[in-house]
Amino acid sequence: MAPKAIRPELSEGRGGVGPLIPPLAESQRPLRQQVFELVRAAGLMPRVQVAKDLGVSPASVTTIASELIEAGLIEEVSAPRDSEAGRGRPAVALGVRAEAYLVAGMKLSDREHTAVIVDFAGKLIADDVIPRHPGPMSLPDILEAIETLLHRVCAKAGVERSQLSALGVGVPGFVDSAEGMVFWSSVLAERSVPLAAAATARLGLPAYVDNDANLVALAELWFGAGRGLSDFAVVTIEHGVGMGFVMNHRIYRGAQRVGMELGHMKVQLDGALCRCGQRGCLEAYIADYALAREASTALNWGHKESQPINVLLESLYDHAKAGNATAKSIFRRAGRYLAVGLSNVVNLFDPSLIILSGERMRYDYLYAAETLAEMDNLSINTGRPRPPIEIHAWGDLLWAHGAAALALSEVSEAILSSQSRDIAAQ
Ligand SMILES: [Zn+2]
Repeated sequence: MAPKAIRPELSEGRGGVGPLIPPLAESQRPLRQQVFELVRAAGLMPRVQVAKDLGVSPASVTTIASELIEAGLIEEVSAPRDSEAGRGRPAVALGVRAEAYLVAGMKLSDREHTAVIVDFAGKLIADDVIPRHPGPMSLPDILEAIETLLHRVCAKAGVERSQLSALGVGVPGFVDSAEGMVFWSSVLAERSVPLAAAATARLGLPAYVDNDANLVALAELWFGAGRGLSDFAVVTIEHGVGMGFVMNHRIYRGAQRVGMELGHMKVQLDGALCRCGQRGCLEAYIADYALAREASTALNWGHKESQPINVLLESLYDHAKAGNATAKSIFRRAGRYLAVGLSNVVNLFDPSLIILSGERMRYDYLYAAETLAEMDNLSINTGRPRPPIEIHAWGDLLWAHGAAALALSEVSEAILSSQSRDIAAQ
């Protein structure tokens, strides 16, 4: 059906003008939350500096800091003074009380499941990994796998599961994090699975889920290169292709929270078949299964199809390095499609940095000079340099760490907002 042309009504008279921003938008978070987040980001910060940075009176920071200390969320720490002037009396700074809460983060993937436990200050306490056979799992099987891994990582950390306050879980695919729904994932056999609710019920522990690429972006935002950047993209190339986009220091998700699916951006009409069921997706040209599919046709590797995909890809990579023209052209073609995808990201969002992340980034053909030159040719020409591209060949540990950051932010948000409500009720 053709869209109906709608003539927007212009506000007139007393209807008001200007954006209708709800009172508690991001920029107007309660001062308590702002103080806590500033201290957490700084590591250690004196009260005076907190007041200065937030543009509020030192007295109000002192009041809020006392409440946060009483609630056990932050603590006073003696900090070394920077200058000579303060000699004699040790300076006191505020810091997050690391032992206040423990959370777990987990990445579920086709190759392995990875988990971490971090403290309230985000420090890694323990990690563990369980390799697995690729392929979709049923919901009961995946819950079983989550519970087993959680049990193991808790044992490694020397903590009881009851000491954890939350679990963050990253899965590939279409995920609505706010609702905890997984609409489609390569690790799940069913569609539209309420994974967060199911895991919460099974474990007796609040669980949160998100798209794994969003969690890598969150990890870069919390622990990595993105801490000081307002707008950047993380593109992940693994079993699939994903993107996490940070806009104004927050993960951008879209109206229905399933946006930024770079892997399913169409790069070819009626093109190659993608795992999502549609054709011509970027992922169907550059993800590992796409390269393996190419290899089995172009190199007559049909007999190798029973091999694990990573073994097959290693072998393809070895052939390319040894000068096999067909193997080289498979990577080169994938690199050209990657250039199309990345230049579209540049043209649409104008990020200050693009981080390429994931296991596949070891295959340097993907980001060879030709790929970057192709990307330059396809990006709009303003005479200014395009954003830098960084390769972060982090392991799954970083992804799991991102899942832990999700759990941490949910825990602190819940505690701080319930405190605000208590105080408002008094
Ligand atoms: Zn697709």
